[in-house]
Amino acid sequence: MRFRLSRGMGGTVRNATVSRDGNGWHISFGVHTGFKAAEPNRKSVCGVDFGVAASAYVSTETAPRRMPSTLTAAEQARLRHLEQKKARQLTYARKHNGGRYSKRLRETIAAIAKLKTRQANRRLDFTHKLTTDLAKNHGLIGIEDLCVTGMTRSARGTLDRPGMNVRAKAGLNRGILDNMPGERRRQLEYKARLHGAEVVAVSAFHTSQTCAACGRVDPESRKGCGRLFACVHCRHEDDADHNASLEIEARARRTGGSVINSTRSTRTVRVPAQRGRRMRETRSAICR
Ligand SMILES: [Zn+2]
Repeated sequence: MRFRLSRGMGGTVRNATVSRDGNGWHISFGVHTGFKAAEPNRKSVCGVDFGVAASAYVSTETAPRRMPSTLTAAEQARLRHLEQKKARQLTYARKHNGGRYSKRLRETIAAIAKLKTRQANRRLDFTHKLTTDLAKNHGLIGIEDLCVTGMTRSARGTLDRPGMNVRAKAGLNRGILDNMPGERRRQLEYKARLHGAEVVAVSAFHTSQTCAACGRVDPESRKGCGRLFACVHCRHEDDADHNASLEIEARARRTGGSVINSTRSTRTVRVPAQRGRRMRETRSAICR
């Protein structure tokens, strides 16, 4: 099989995985590098509040880190156009072709897949840069211990008791998943080992309602303020996400660096759910 080697091997090849996504075929190698976890780097402590509007707010910074738009305006327009074309071609296939996909319809579907892959790659690129930067420049990183499955559950409800605001919740879920919460954490965990940092997952309970200045918990502090946190007890004011990141940092410090989730000595082997994902799983094994 012929392929282009896009980076050095850096070790003994143990396995190879062939996968395909919207951009074409890929081959990835699992490599044994003999890597051992780095010594603690003794750098600063930070807390990170991951959000939807602001992708990440680091407690030591004054501005949130936002994920740039993953598609340009022109690409968005093209995607919209392609989706409409696909719908039209599907209707035609149903009406006149006995549901059989035409060659043109398959080409449209492939073009959509290509755009979506590009979008996914940009999203992944942002997440990689963010987690590398965090792990490289900090000794202790506090993050919230979030239950992503629970957070992004559908509001659909059951047939007897239909849910409310289903579309709105679906949109929020998309926003949350767009920021790849699980992937972010997975990357942080292995990169922390690489750069001698520690990741502490702290309880997410009331981080957004706790005042970072006086420590009092009050839902009133967030009332009607939108992105602003205004403590009703000590009049402390801050960006809500920054306030939360400071609280996460404080909780991480209190844990005293006893790592809850980062340096498992043996990682559980996961069976990749999607085909496109398989490649990234193995590629990250190279760095491990
Ligand atoms: Zn306060």
